[in-house]
Amino acid sequence: MVAQSNIKTEIICTDVCDIDTNMFFLEPVPEVFNDTVSSLNAELFGAYFDHFPDIKADILVALSYYPELQGVKIRFSYRSIKQTMNSRPSPFNIFRKKANWQYSIIVNNNKGKHKALPFEKLPFSMKVGWLGHELAHTLQYQQMRSGEMVVFAFKYVFSKRFVRKAERYTDLLTIEHGLAYPLYIGTDFLLNSKDIDKKYRQYALINSLSLNEIKCLWCKYYYELFQYLRN
Ligand SMILES: [Zn+2]
Repeated sequence: MVAQSNIKTEIICTDVCDIDTNMFFLEPVPEVFNDTVSSLNAELFGAYFDHFPDIKADILVALSYYPELQGVKIRFSYRSIKQTMNSRPSPFNIFRKKANWQYSIIVNNNKGKHKALPFEKLPFSMKVGWLGHELAHTLQYQQMRSGEMVVFAFKYVFSKRFVRKAERYTDLLTIEHGLAYPLYIGTDFLLNSKDIDKKYRQYALINSLSLNEIKCLWCKYYYELFQYLRN
């Protein structure tokens, strides 16, 4: 219920802050996460890891930004889809107890009609940002009841307006989880990469937060956090 009612609100942010903006450009450093990652309760599996076993380390770093997803079962598949990656709840969840719900994240193998980013070749920070966005989707599914999940899927298929709101809200959740800069560089790369299908870039332009909005929402998040730490 929480996720759906938040999606309905239009995200508007126009005042980019002037507090130490260098803070925005801090990249996640893989080594810093070694301890956190080794203590994570992660249930990641799927055929994607047969192709790219090393990628699990990057996924674990992204997962460390989502403590709510500890122990949640996520299958990683590798096949042709329209985007670089997408996230779905398992349709069998409606027959499962909530504690046993499973989710999938599908990575485009770029062997089909739709060419997207070669995910495994992206820089570390960009990968973490991209995964962070997908995990923000997973988190929303996890907060829904079965009926809400069905309504969500239905609206997502039939309403372009809903897709835009849902995707922008997912970007906002990614920022709130501390991944503004990784999201920013991934969005920038996608919007400006000439090798990417024009239609896909257009899709991103319509449905993602803009680069300025990402900065602006980071300011809001950071400023609130800063105030909280001072009090
Ligand atoms: Zn998305």
